Amino acid sequence: MKSILKKFNLETPYYSVSTGETCWEGNGDTFKINSPVDGLEIGHVQGGTISDFDNVMNQSKEAFKIWRTIPAPQRGEIVRQFGEALRQNKEDLGALVSYEMGKSLQEGYGEVQEMIDICDFAVGLSRQLYGLQMHSERPGHRMMEQWHPLGVVGIISAFNFPVAVWAWNTALAWICGNVCVWKPSEKTPFTALACQQIIKKVLLDNDLPEGISNLIIGGRDIGQEMASHPDIALVSATGSTRMGKSVAETVARRLGKSILELGGNNAIIVTENADLKHAIPSIVFGAVGTAGQRCTSTRRLIIHKSQYDNLVNQLVKAYEQLHIGNPLDESNHVGPLIDTQAVEEYKNTIQKAIEQGGKVLAGNKVLAGEQYLSGCYVKPTIIEANVNMTIVKHETFAPILYVMTYTNFTEAIKIQNSVPQGLSSSIFTLNIRESEEFLSYSGSDCGIANVNIGTSGAEIGGAFGGEKETGGGRESGSDAWKAYMRRQTCTVNYGKEAHLAQGIVFNF
Ligand code: NAD
Repeated sequence: MKSILKKFNLETPYYSVSTGETCWEGNGDTFKINSPVDGLEIGHVQGGTISDFDNVMNQSKEAFKIWRTIPAPQRGEIVRQFGEALRQNKEDLGALVSYEMGKSLQEGYGEVQEMIDICDFAVGLSRQLYGLQMHSERPGHRMMEQWHPLGVVGIISAFNFPVAVWAWNTALAWICGNVCVWKPSEKTPFTALACQQIIKKVLLDNDLPEGISNLIIGGRDIGQEMASHPDIALVSATGSTRMGKSVAETVARRLGKSILELGGNNAIIVTENADLKHAIPSIVFGAVGTAGQRCTSTRRLIIHKSQYDNLVNQLVKAYEQLHIGNPLDESNHVGPLIDTQAVEEYKNTIQKAIEQGGKVLAGNKVLAGEQYLSGCYVKPTIIEANVNMTIVKHETFAPILYVMTYTNFTEAIKIQNSVPQGLSSSIFTLNIRESEEFLSYSGSDCGIANVNIGTSGAEIGGAFGGEKETGGGRESGSDAWKAYMRRQTCTVNYGKEAHLAQGIVFNF
């Protein structure tokens, strides 16, 4: 890991505030980062202060004046070069993600691949920022709609996808002509600093101004500053619902724009017509992958009573076979939680579930011993639950799966929709009526609804996000780019007469 840190210039001093060429050590809070993998200190980072943030804002506003004049396909060329640089750094950056955050090496590489994919998507999109042409009701008039950049986009990201979420936002924001200021999670600053090194080189090689891509390490105070700053046109915030409510309120007070990507409480319905051979690996990956720390992790399983005993027995057996340990060792299936505070939440949640009538069927153990020195390794847990348990409605960021039964399909959908969150959902069935009903207006109320695949592992081509307390934002593919631009409706009179809309006559 030392050589990777060296490669990304992450030996002291690290510059926790960067506007491209100009980097400086912040004067704010110190964040000491220990890897959840082995508990060893990766290093410490001095975060930025509010006055550092003001300097970053000045640099970015200057950079915006230049960046917006560069044609979108040329901005796409810069994003293409960034994608190439990521390809060259995929293994090292992926390993650093794995070591700092604790996800498996495969998932670390997958996260960097997602960054590459969104760059490719954004490059194509840079020639497709289409407006519309409408027929005017007035003779000799033309009406059209066009899209302009917003300005400075602020990105607040969570620890669990420490780099991909930034790329989803920034690649689109850049081709749309915006400049970005990124405040990553204070739990994963090193991966963010590595990304900044990569983009910095691309910008400098192209003689582009500082401030197109800016980084500031900091905690909640810097996030709050970002939310309240009048010059941040769009705040894209990913994290807990608690954080999202605070950001939404602050941004709304100044009538700014926000994209909110918040917590999920994702369910899979397994009907009497499901192919279990197909369902089981998807359920296990969804529930234990990234140690249950994906916003799309499977947290609830709603099983038809005819399948319940068989499926639950098979799941318990599968859980017994899981290898838990160092995520950099590819023979392990489950790595650590992010920190010991997350371990406490795992323990408290299981305790509450038991108090509310839940029955533990697998797991419920914090692992100790030489392989688990960080204290962050836990056994993935299955709890038999019922819909009346309030804890089931709550997102705990840990590998805890609640299993429940249903008897008729309408009831299954009702249970699926009975939580405050609305991110991802799935159904396993070979019955077309069930799958179509699940996808219909009276089916899943989530932003993502899948058939015969699990709740996690979205592709970048689709718009990503969820409803209700998940925040309603959409990022990534489809037409999510429109949130990063402002729409302008233009009417041109090329005729020789003046006409008013609605045929209004105004003579003088
Ligand atoms: P978190 O809310 O603790 O922190 C996320 C980010 O918000 C961090 O950068 C943090 O510093 C910042 N922050 C915290 N409070 C803030 C405030 N009041 N104002 C401004 N910024 C603030 O979340 P976390 O523990 O890092 O991540 C886990 C959560 O993120 C889970 O709830 C998960 O579901 C969610 N998540 C959602 C998505 C999605 O796309 N829907 C993706 C990843 C993670």
